[in-house]
Parts: sequence; C-alpha cells; structure tokens
Amino acid sequence: MPRYCAVKACRNRGGAASRQDNKRISFYPFPLHDKPRLQKWVANMKREGWIPSRHQYLCSEHFTEDCFDIRWGIRYLKNTAIPSIFPSVEDVYVL
Ligand SMILES: [Zn+2]
Repeated sequence: MPRYCAVKACRNRGGAASRQDNKRISFYPFPLHDKPRLQKWVANMKREGWIPSRHQYLCSEHFTEDCFDIRWGIRYLKNTAIPSIFPSVEDVYVL
C-alpha cells in the first residue's frame, strides 16, 4: 500500500516515487494513542476537530531536524516530536 502524506498541499507519496532529489522521505503515523500530542499535530496542521485514521501519515518534511533520532543509520521520530513545517494557507489555495 502506498503511503500518502495527510497534508493536502504536500505531494509526497510513499513507494517507488518517494525519492526526490535524493531527499529521504519517511512517513509517520499520527500518535493516536497520545491525545495531547495528537491535538498538537492536528492544531499545527490547522485542522482542529479533525481526527486522522490509523492509516494516515505525515511525511518527514513537516518535522524539523531535532524531531529525529538517528540510530544505526535509521531515522526515528522522537516520541515527543510535533510537526511544525506546513505550507501556509496561501500556498494551498493560490496555485
Ligand atoms: Zn508531507
């Protein structure tokens, strides 16, 4: 199953086409078990009131470098990470 980023303005997809200019894009599920943190994710996405499903992901583009731990060459999202990089509303609607 290809993974899609839940950010509407973001075109990142999982699978074969996920490498863009050698940038590694990973996908992370929403912290559905951690309600306070989930609320922060959704608030930062400006989608208050929305509840993501277990099958929705955010891509690594929305997290700053300090949200990640690197172990054995693998990038892990810290369990305190909050996504903070989103396209502005203008970017979404003025294309
Ligand atoms: Zn994305």
